[in-house]
Amino acid sequence: MTIAVVPGSFDPITAGHIDIIRRAKDLYEHVIVGVVINPGKKPLFSLEERVEMVKDAVSWDPTIAVDSFTGLLVDFVKLHNAKVIVRGLRAVSDFEHEFQMAQLNRRLNARIETVFMMASPEYAYLSSSIIKEIAMYDGSVKGLVSPNVEALLRKALA
Ligand code: ADP
Repeated sequence: MTIAVVPGSFDPITAGHIDIIRRAKDLYEHVIVGVVINPGKKPLFSLEERVEMVKDAVSWDPTIAVDSFTGLLVDFVKLHNAKVIVRGLRAVSDFEHEFQMAQLNRRLNARIETVFMMASPEYAYLSSSIIKEIAMYDGSVKGLVSPNVEALLRKALA
């Protein structure tokens, strides 16, 4: 059984993230979504809120696990006996950072493979920060995030 980890900040989870998680689940028997505690980033939503939002968004498949982590991603992956890290690539601009992280993670643990999935064209422009920006200016994010996230965004930005 191959276990894959889909890591991210998910601040908040978007339709683009869900698409990657769904596609990862098509490829791997077991998927764990890892919500990162990044001391360097100041998220809009607390870790608990982000984990709850992810859990709600993936509830269509009870076999998908959601967990949070701090520290090195490779340690989280190893802890869960996973072999694969799945990341989404939206544009060339994502590439440089992702390339660096994949090389670094390989250096830290060569038994873990990073697999990239191209963003689906309908979500390629979507990011958590663009969602927050639209919501901040009262624009509609309908269809880009779940109704639950939509409501939480409205509350957080009120
Ligand atoms: P991070 O801070 O680790 O980049 P994010 O929550 O922003 O966390 O993204 C997590 C993962 O999801 C990354 O691999 C990112 O490239 C991918 N991702 C984000 N938005 C999309 C999207 N619209 N389509 C495909 N992949 C996406």
